[in-house]
Amino acid sequence: MAACTPTPSAETGVAADTSTEAAGPATGDDAPYAMADFATVRKFDAHVHANDADTSMLQQARADNFELLSINVDYPDFPSLQHQREITLAQAKADPAHFHWAATFSMSGFGDKAWLQQVNAGLDRDVAEGAVAVKVWKNIGMVEKDAQGKAIMLDNPGLAPVAEHVRALGVPLIAHQGEPYNCWLPLDKMTTNNDREYFAKHPQYHMYLHPEQPSHATLMAARDRFVAAHPTLRVVGAHMASLEYDVDVLAGFLDRFPNATVDLAARMSQVQYQSNADRAKVRDFFIRYQDRLLYGTDLTQSPGAEPAQVKAETHAVWQSDWRYLATAETQHVDVLEADVQGLGLPRSVIDKVYYSNAVREFNLQRAL
Ligand SMILES: [Zn+2]
Repeated sequence: MAACTPTPSAETGVAADTSTEAAGPATGDDAPYAMADFATVRKFDAHVHANDADTSMLQQARADNFELLSINVDYPDFPSLQHQREITLAQAKADPAHFHWAATFSMSGFGDKAWLQQVNAGLDRDVAEGAVAVKVWKNIGMVEKDAQGKAIMLDNPGLAPVAEHVRALGVPLIAHQGEPYNCWLPLDKMTTNNDREYFAKHPQYHMYLHPEQPSHATLMAARDRFVAAHPTLRVVGAHMASLEYDVDVLAGFLDRFPNATVDLAARMSQVQYQSNADRAKVRDFFIRYQDRLLYGTDLTQSPGAEPAQVKAETHAVWQSDWRYLATAETQHVDVLEADVQGLGLPRSVIDKVYYSNAVREFNLQRAL
């Protein structure tokens, strides 16, 4: 399996250590869950990519008590948008209780009047057919250029009518803007091995080497202007809104924009890096922003992937993340070359981050 961005979720390497060290003062009804609760608690992975007609990831979701949000994205390494749409529609139709999907649109033809009509008509059709969100990807800001060769940023006036249309449709906009902050750092300053390895292999995407491209700060500022300009549009900042490197900075974003939530997809090791430095601070962040965080992984089922391997890897990532967020157990995280103790969050917080926040954000008809 491959993720569509660097920094995949914590790879496993789960230590045999199953210490049951207490997580904090919580007791009784709000005491942390245990590993044994993983199978029985309702959960929602708000960021996956089902890119194959094979339903192995969905089968694993059913087995592990997960619902999925599969996000279509205009990414050249993924199947075509049309094909992604067919796959996600088919799986949603086959199992509407467990599978949801987010629509997206192509930037090809951006700026033409015909483009806007086509995009909005496509989104009307997609929401009518069950899409629960719309995704915009980092190609806006990092790839797409205007006629003068300047990067098209998220706050480009040509995108405002699309944002307004998404708002009117009553679904949130999932915005993946930018990259992990590591992307703008030299290799030896990056916080995780997987980013270091990815950018060493893909220098074309390593923004530290491309100062002519928009900086992380420039991309974040454009995104923030966009969110501010659409205060009643619900925005989900994918990948911790690309502010994964510092929970204080992310807290500032969430304070500033009450219409925003963020997903945790493919950034758990960045959270773990911070909690290894100051566990109480990161734990407090999750408790304070318990209504604004959506569990997600970026797990991707690539075309032709071996079903047994998809299931095993999916289950392993979900279990590792549960061990970290829900329990106070310690596990080895390979990309950090470190042991990481879990946050042992109160179960009321886990129930929100893992389920009810997604039900609210994506307007799902579920009894809570
Ligand atoms: Zn993704």
